[in-house]
Amino acid sequence: MEAVDLHLHSTASDGEHPPAEVVTRAAAVGLSAIALTDHDTLAGIPQAVEAGSAVGLRVVAGCELSVAAPWRGGEMHLLAYFVPEGDPVLNDFLVGERTKRAERAEKIVRRLNAAGVALTLDEVLDQADGAALGRPHVARALVARGVVEDITVAFDKYLGWGRAAFVAKQLPPVAEVTALVRSVGGVTSAAHLRDRATRKVLRTLRDAGVDGVEVLHPAHDEARTRRVRALADDLALLPTGGSDWHGNGRGDQGKALGAIRVPPAWLDALARVHQERSSRLEVTP
Ligand code: AMP
Ligand code: FE
Ligand code: FE
Ligand code: ZN
Repeated sequence: MEAVDLHLHSTASDGEHPPAEVVTRAAAVGLSAIALTDHDTLAGIPQAVEAGSAVGLRVVAGCELSVAAPWRGGEMHLLAYFVPEGDPVLNDFLVGERTKRAERAEKIVRRLNAAGVALTLDEVLDQADGAALGRPHVARALVARGVVEDITVAFDKYLGWGRAAFVAKQLPPVAEVTALVRSVGGVTSAAHLRDRATRKVLRTLRDAGVDGVEVLHPAHDEARTRRVRALADDLALLPTGGSDWHGNGRGDQGKALGAIRVPPAWLDALARVHQERSSRLEVTP
């Protein structure tokens, strides 16, 4: 059965493989289309598109954005699809989010130092090599220094929620981000909600302009998948799905690339919303 994957990371953010390699690997496991959805950046899209045309795999431009969740103090992620690379307003927003990531990495390092771990910001920047900075880069720097044996331990001991070096993000409201994405013709989906995918939360998100919900994800078992799918249908949210693959080196939930097989029709439905939205943009003065 033909399949697509709408949630993938590369070295443009916290993935382990360059964008072109993500694409060739996706083609090798028989996927016909992917969306590259790096955190807060579109930097990997040109290389992914080029690699896609070489191997005959469709690449949708995407990214994953962190937003304030409708539950107290929470963070959730919106996947944005069919976003243009050259829009100045969207790019300003992404630059701002990446700047906040850089400032947060500094704070994380300071907290590690205060906890007696002698890590430097340079070691983290070396791991990131220009990518949108995230905790996985800090985790890899901790592993490289021999502070912890692997990335999972780095999160469990230092970087995870409530741990000594945890620093919360400053998050934009959902409605602000959906309005921005819509204004450039893009489409959004609420990523990996797990047990937060209640009717109430999904209705709130839909009313805040979210178009879809991630149904298929490694963190969703069969029962969860069925439930989220039913809620999506009920609330007229578009179903999306993907592996959230960052490479195979990560200790948590990771599933192999190709293990999550999303029906191409789900991508077609997203594309239709995008087309409708962008054609409306062209006629407005
Ligand atoms: P950040 O955006 O800096 O908050 O980092 C979040 C990212 O860290 C996620 O997108 C995952 O890629 C990764 N991550 C979160 N929790 C874990 C974990 N327990 N083990 C490994 N990677 C994780
Ligand atoms: Fe990530
Ligand atoms: Fe995410
Ligand atoms: Zn992701």
